[in-house]
Amino acid sequence: RDAVSPDADVDERALEGALRPKRLTDFVGQDRVCEQLSLVLRSAQRRSRVPDHILMSGGPGLGKTTLAMIIAAELGAPLRITSGPAIERSGDLAAILSTLQEGEVLFLDEIHRMARPAEEMLYVAMEDFRVDVVVGKGPGATAVPLDIAPFTLVGATTRAGLLPAPLRDRFGFVGHMDFYRSADLELILRRSASLLEVELGDDAAAEIAGRSRGTPRIANRLLRRVRDYAEVRSDGRLTLETARSALTLYEVDAQGLDRLDRAVLHALLRRFRGGPVGLSTLAVSVGEEPETVEVVAEPFLVRSGYIARTPRGRIATPDAWAHMGITPPKDAAF
Ligand code: ATP
Repeated sequence: RDAVSPDADVDERALEGALRPKRLTDFVGQDRVCEQLSLVLRSAQRRSRVPDHILMSGGPGLGKTTLAMIIAAELGAPLRITSGPAIERSGDLAAILSTLQEGEVLFLDEIHRMARPAEEMLYVAMEDFRVDVVVGKGPGATAVPLDIAPFTLVGATTRAGLLPAPLRDRFGFVGHMDFYRSADLELILRRSASLLEVELGDDAAAEIAGRSRGTPRIANRLLRRVRDYAEVRSDGRLTLETARSALTLYEVDAQGLDRLDRAVLHALLRRFRGGPVGLSTLAVSVGEEPETVEVVAEPFLVRSGYIARTPRGRIATPDAWAHMGITPPKDAAF
């Protein structure tokens, strides 16, 4: 696993628990989403009603799970966590929905990957707090309506565009999580450093933040790798110099591009002479699923100004050629 992959592995999940902010006031960045969310929660509390269903969209590691936990904490409500791929049949969903407590927050990660029949069951549950349980089989099967406790669904997706409109429309609030500003990542790093009890210099924090692809999960991971380096190779203090040496060792470049980012850029420049090229062709040429390239690599490359999307396909910008140190051909598409 690359040091900058935004997906988390199992050990990391445990550590992340300790570094996760617990309340809205501790949550750094995403100011607009937090303010909007806080209003949704407060007004529901005033009316003594469960809040509208909430959809969080944004790339991996930007804090969707963290926000779902915070929502439950702010409401003083229990939280149940599941994910789209875990719901293979509508029965799986019925089992969860029918055992929810009143006011419970149900977090459904990767909601776009849920099985279709379950999706339809979810529409009804979201709108009417009801599930239709099918009793019997074949022509004699009947649907028995079952009331369930009012709950708040918090759905998370990396691709809001993939959600069918009837599902998207049933969310009363959609929060779009964007990449974090460097200053916010520095704050997150300082907080994590104090929780990990390591000494982090300001310039080292800025260096790590600048290479974290705008993503808190990556920032926290790079912090731990720099700490390892500082402990083994020097006196344990995280200075600018140790940060730079450690990050070079872990193949994180000065802009935070990882191996996949660079592979995509390399293919785009070398194989396709800067494009335009379709996303799936590009993905095949780096041996990845189109979804991985689209969700993990492309948003950051577009945001950093290395790739542009055009109606004819992806093209490399002059900055991409410069960053990769390759001279563009005379007929390059920019
Ligand atoms: P995935 O969908 O891949 O699980 P996610 O968007 O749900 O990702 P989280 O698991 O919520 O991401 O966050 C990843 C890590 O980043 C956590 O360890 C969390 O502590 C940290 N983190 C995320 N957002 C913030 C934030 N705003 N302030 C401080 N730490 C944050």
